[in-house]
Amino acid sequence: MAQPTTLLDLPPELSAERIRAWVAGEKLPAYRAEQMHRRLWMDPVASWQDATELPKALRERLERDFPLPRLSVDVIQQSQDGTRKYLWTLGDGEKIESVLIPSAGRRTLCISSQAGCALGCTFCATGTMGLRRNLTAWEIAAQVREIVLLDVNDKPTNVVFMGMGEPLVNWPAVDATLSILNDPKGFGIGARHITVSTVGIVPGMKALAARPEQFRLAISMHSPKGADRIGIMPIEKRYPLKEVLDVAATFHKRVTFEYVLIAGVNDRDDDAAVLASHARRMGAHVNLLPLHPGGAPGLVPTAPARIREFCQFLVDQGVEAVVRRSRGLDIDAACGQLRVQMEKKRRADHQEPVDATPS
Ligand code: SF4
Repeated sequence: MAQPTTLLDLPPELSAERIRAWVAGEKLPAYRAEQMHRRLWMDPVASWQDATELPKALRERLERDFPLPRLSVDVIQQSQDGTRKYLWTLGDGEKIESVLIPSAGRRTLCISSQAGCALGCTFCATGTMGLRRNLTAWEIAAQVREIVLLDVNDKPTNVVFMGMGEPLVNWPAVDATLSILNDPKGFGIGARHITVSTVGIVPGMKALAARPEQFRLAISMHSPKGADRIGIMPIEKRYPLKEVLDVAATFHKRVTFEYVLIAGVNDRDDDAAVLASHARRMGAHVNLLPLHPGGAPGLVPTAPARIREFCQFLVDQGVEAVVRRSRGLDIDAACGQLRVQMEKKRRADHQEPVDATPS
């Protein structure tokens, strides 16, 4: 008997092809292929049994030949500002997070691409866990699918790869997921509304640049000078910022710099001056983010007045810069925070020591 196929792992074009071939092989009418395919992403079902437009016997065959894997929702935290955080459990027990941020007619979903992360940025809760494993394409895209299954009105209008993990070290799965998100026979989210955020994984950036769609690129910069950056982002050793910016300059896609302000670490006048010169050179937009309190032991958020001053300096230098509001302050909304908190609780319940050392 043929092995069951996870259609949800494939870009829509390939899953449609696979279904058409199966329908033809089963001697079913061709329109069944279209009906089946729209149940993957466009009008998803929790299981084939819910696709009641299909005959019962066919639904049973589909359950067997093309099972629809699910994420199970562990915790949903709702912030007073409307931000919602989901903690999902994967089939092997790993846990990942997504954050849904509503604002002015948009619903932006921040998704995870890995369980944990190997890159050990010092200001990041996920970095404290090390890498557990890469997610598959369906596990990444299912973060959108599950939310649609919970409530279709929550379907995200925008998606950012800024949750757990570094997306560009998991390129094959992220590549397929981008198609699932963007394809009209997938979720149909416009490429300009999908942002891949990277610390600067050069081969992955080149692969992303080679795609024809206008996906957005965000570079997690956090320090504009390589010599300082290495202190908070070990990846600087492998892919120096200078090389990363040279590759980003070849993008025909809009580039954003993400910059978490940390008191005394990256918020000095000369940091602002060098950041401004990088941004001007590339026509990049700068997002300044207050460090999420509690997300990074030993690091102190820059004071609000200094954040405003830093931002004004950039604007005076002709740079498009904004301070992003910290969302979900009353929940564990920074990347990896909820999972780290749950892990601590679990260990405390079992009297295990907590290792919070960044990897
Ligand atoms: S900021 Fe991103 S790349 Fe750095 S440790 Fe966290 S998840 Fe990994």
